[in-house]
Amino acid sequence: MARAPQPSLPPESAATTGGPSPHEAGGILTIDLGAVAANYKLLRGRVTPAECAAVVKADAYGCGIDQVTATLSRAGCQTFFVAHLSEARRVRAIAREAVIYVLNGFSSAAGAGFVETYARPVINSLVELAEWDHFVATSGYAGSAALHVDTGMNRLGLTIEEAAAIAAHIRSESHHVALLMSHFAGADRPAHPLNDQQIRQFREVRSLFRGIGSSLANSSGIFLDASAHCDLVRPGIALYGGNPIPGKPNPMQPVIELKAHILQVRNLGKGAAVGYGSTWTAKRESRIAVIAAGYADGISRAAAITEGAKPREVNVAGKRCRMVGRISMDLLALDVTDLPVSAVRRDQMVTLIGDGMTLEDVAAQAGTISYEVLTGLGPRYHRVWKG
Ligand SMILES: *Cc1c(COP(=O)(O)O)cnc(C)c1O
Repeated sequence: MARAPQPSLPPESAATTGGPSPHEAGGILTIDLGAVAANYKLLRGRVTPAECAAVVKADAYGCGIDQVTATLSRAGCQTFFVAHLSEARRVRAIAREAVIYVLNGFSSAAGAGFVETYARPVINSLVELAEWDHFVATSGYAGSAALHVDTGMNRLGLTIEEAAAIAAHIRSESHHVALLMSHFAGADRPAHPLNDQQIRQFREVRSLFRGIGSSLANSSGIFLDASAHCDLVRPGIALYGGNPIPGKPNPMQPVIELKAHILQVRNLGKGAAVGYGSTWTAKRESRIAVIAAGYADGISRAAAITEGAKPREVNVAGKRCRMVGRISMDLLALDVTDLPVSAVRRDQMVTLIGDGMTLEDVAAQAGTISYEVLTGLGPRYHRVWKG
């Protein structure tokens, strides 16, 4: 497929800290850009000769779209995927020469935005294709688009029948279709028969669109066999340290570390309850550390913290302690009774992610997935981008 020329200028440097100052923030989120670059290189090495793009939607999964884009551009990444045009604008400001695809598609109203950012829409339906054709014809816009064909996700994309019906027509230059793509519904479960079925169906569709580059694999798809790689892969979560092969050792380097302050340590008599709704009651004389992070900071309240539920843990001075009571908007409580009194002090920091608490641990305990943990991390942390 046509590749963008090498950037003529080094990407603009992005801020290395963000959010409130460390003294005013409840917690500190550290993002290791060296690890993002290392993860990118590992994935790229795995898929060569296919091209490795990067998915940086949702603020690069909460890791900072400006910083991540600059880092990956420097590492040689030339193609970026975002969900929204507003995100394409951020990428364009940093990666001036990159190819940028907007996954959520095209509408006539957004036409001017595509011209302005020189971004490529991912066409997800025949209606979008008609609007795109009309836009290209009336505006004279010379930019390209991707065509998304659904092979089993049943979310966005043309049906296989629709794609087959328009294939001959699309291969003519005037449509500016530069990429044919599809998306796995469950590549994180390699044994699932749907993966092979999607690979097979996508291969058939590709044969109708000869001469147009193709893309199927997300992070987990890269770890299926090479038949999933096609011309371009689209990893997101693996770049940010999430495990693309659940149940097996994570080949990616961890990217984020999240710490938060202890605001107060208090003693509780047996029978005292903690938090809204009094959902947890001390069965013994207890010590509770109150932490400056809550559901407004992405610590999900949904998973119950009740007797018998899966424990949700935080690392305090090297030891895992349980969250107790409901998560509040700005606060959560930990049972630190088993730690020496001197080991838990006001102002000390505890580790919510990192120090052996993996993203997957945290996600499993919260009843969700690493993606949601990352993208939920709120704006109130002091952010540090290192590397
Ligand atoms: C988000 C997204 C990706 C990236 O998926 P990961 O599982 O994070 O690697 C790739 N392709 C499409 C269409 C997406 O929406």
